[in-house]
Amino acid sequence: MASQSNFTHDEEPAEASDTAEAESALETARQQLQHAADHLDIDRNIIERLKYPKKVHEVTVPIERDDGTVEMFTGYRAQHDSVRGPHKGGLRYHPEVTRDECVGLGMWMTWKCAVMDLPFGGAKGGVAVNPKELSKDEKERLTRRFAEEIRAVIGPTVDIPAPDMGTDPQTMAWLMDAYSMQEGETVPGVVTGKPPVVGGSKGRDEAPGRSVAIIVREAIEHYEKDINETSVAIQGYGSVGSNVARLLDDWGANVVAVSDVNGGIYDTNGLDTHSIPSHHEDPEAVIGHDAPETVTNAELLELDVDVLVPAALGNVLTAENARDVRADIIVEGANGPTTTAADRIFADREIPVIPDILANAGGVTVSYFEWLQDINRRAWSLERVRNELEEEMLTAWDVVKNEFTTREVTWRDAAYIVALSRIVEAHEARGLWP
Ligand code: NAD
Repeated sequence: MASQSNFTHDEEPAEASDTAEAESALETARQQLQHAADHLDIDRNIIERLKYPKKVHEVTVPIERDDGTVEMFTGYRAQHDSVRGPHKGGLRYHPEVTRDECVGLGMWMTWKCAVMDLPFGGAKGGVAVNPKELSKDEKERLTRRFAEEIRAVIGPTVDIPAPDMGTDPQTMAWLMDAYSMQEGETVPGVVTGKPPVVGGSKGRDEAPGRSVAIIVREAIEHYEKDINETSVAIQGYGSVGSNVARLLDDWGANVVAVSDVNGGIYDTNGLDTHSIPSHHEDPEAVIGHDAPETVTNAELLELDVDVLVPAALGNVLTAENARDVRADIIVEGANGPTTTAADRIFADREIPVIPDILANAGGVTVSYFEWLQDINRRAWSLERVRNELEEEMLTAWDVVKNEFTTREVTWRDAAYIVALSRIVEAHEARGLWP
């Protein structure tokens, strides 16, 4: 069932790609790791080890379709590093899920947990399936069977999945139920992102957007801007984008442009973000909202604004458009929105890019809170979740800012330096088995 990864030198990290299409999540993750490691005087053997996952489990998930036919899907769970604690990371249902994508995204989870100082390592998984082509019953059968196929390698002290693209709190409830039925006891801590009624945390849905908004606010202050005079453009109006937009709007910023898959709306006087339906309230309705101007997604990225927040997809800031970006600060809401080549251009142009592993880490941080609540069998209030998230984000921001200012590196390198230092220290303390 489970297959151990078996790398050859052919899979060494590639040189920086110049096009978005050419750069996989794994390539980006490895290049970012190497780049940060070059700034640190640390054991090269541990860096080499961290370029590879600990294990990748590949499973076949057969399900009975509603018409009675049986169809096979391939599922993965890539476990990257667990030196600081159990693996943690999302499960996605998407037709383009691949082994390498899971490995790359799992690596990011390792850094993200370490930069936040959470006692977790990284993982990512998923099933290569188009969830839009599944009925609710088929999705439930797929989830329960997938849960069974990976049951031996997950668990509250081993590896704790969470929702990701194409999966949601209901998916996590099915997964928790399937796992619990086989274990003979209710085990809420096996997954996070569940509905609160079965051990989910209040404030989990809004958490990644909230953390991005907190980091935008801190970045605005660091660069000595006044939030009341700061213009913001946000790509994507889903869970992350809509929460960032509304919080920044509430805190006084001028959110001038937002978009979804169909394009965006633009108002230099500022949009009323609460009246624009998010992806979950009314999918793909941004463009239909009344506003003086519309923009394409490509144009939104090049608007003359103080802060740009890409919060939809990976690889949207590339060598092709990085020279045309006019924002003063970029804060990554999505995972991996900036290619390696674009990163270099922004560094040359001295445009700060606050990285995803810090900015959107509110999701995994509140997942950690959920896990604590599950283990302790005690739910927290929404106020407590928000207060503790604020505290964790400010602590991480201060540590990263300290590296940024003292070492004179990019924000991404500063965040990686914080994460890597903690991981390498833990590896050194534990030593190599056997
Ligand atoms: P979502 O599904 O809630 O919303 C996605 C939004 O992006 C929608 O508004 C959609 O219309 C838009 N979109 C889709 N394709 C687009 C395109 N080609 N151009 C512009 N917009 C497009 O997703 P989300 O949960 O908000 O996640 C967004 C990003 O944030 C992803 O990269 C995700 O990995 C990352 N992220 C999410 C979480 C989380 O817990 N939700 C946590 C950390 C990071």
